[in-house]
Amino acid sequence: MASITLVATDKIIDKIKKFYAEQEINHKNPHASFIAKANNCTITIYHSKKVLFQGKNAEKEGALWSDIQSKKISVHKNKNLPSTTFFPHIGSDEVGTGDYFGPMTVCAAFVDDTLRKQLEPFQIQDSKAMTDRYICEIAPKLKEIIPFSFLILPNEKYNQINRSGYNQGKMKAYLHNQAILHLLKKLHCEQNPPKIIIDQFAEKGVYYNYLKDAPTVAKQNVFFETKAESKFLAVACASVLARYGFLQKMNQLSAQWDIEIPKGAGNKVDQMAASFIKKHGIEALEQVAKLHFVNTEKAKKYL
Ligand code: MG
Repeated sequence: MASITLVATDKIIDKIKKFYAEQEINHKNPHASFIAKANNCTITIYHSKKVLFQGKNAEKEGALWSDIQSKKISVHKNKNLPSTTFFPHIGSDEVGTGDYFGPMTVCAAFVDDTLRKQLEPFQIQDSKAMTDRYICEIAPKLKEIIPFSFLILPNEKYNQINRSGYNQGKMKAYLHNQAILHLLKKLHCEQNPPKIIIDQFAEKGVYYNYLKDAPTVAKQNVFFETKAESKFLAVACASVLARYGFLQKMNQLSAQWDIEIPKGAGNKVDQMAASFIKKHGIEALEQVAKLHFVNTEKAKKYL
């Protein structure tokens, strides 16, 4: 049986534990602090900071972590690029869920080592840390470089689904799952997916419970990670493309309804919602806003 041993730093050990947390198994080995079984490989972390990878894919799994550890210095040179990552992987993220106006968008993106190099000039980071102007500048180029799947849930559909009993979490789960499935199909790797990282918005159990009636659910090699857009390049790319799609739709809505449609969900949004109602009537709000937000009631008070 193949085996690889690595002496890891505390930081890498933390990352390994976090990464395989879902596959951790109970054990009675007094010398080990953690054992997981994943991808035909047993990963054992010893108190001595040795990490043992054993099994059919030992070399593959072990190489991921030894690469990250040895590349530590060069990766840190560029603080803008997510560093705790390995390739290839798929990442998915959503945008527009906290904005009263505008759609919800979700994107899944794929990055491998070759694509990573092509992306370097763009200095991609979490879309929340990039200006909208810069996102609009680089997103069209990104689209030409990486495989991705983008989904948009327009307001009318959002409100309709919401009324039928879907909360926002369930909508997100459906869109993430669908974007991932589309992308796996595009890449012809449904049977053998790379690691898939979902920017975590719900606990794993809750996520899969939302999807209990979905016809197909991507589960193999799926991981959930909070703040993943700042840790995984594919998630960062997905967040950029999701934001870009959201911004484009916001511009389109502003032009269509001849009113400057604001982002967010603050006081300014309530006032604009009131102006919108005055101009186009309350029924039209269905097509531009997420009606279940408290902003709807607040806007009515302005009238
Ligand atoms: Mg997110």
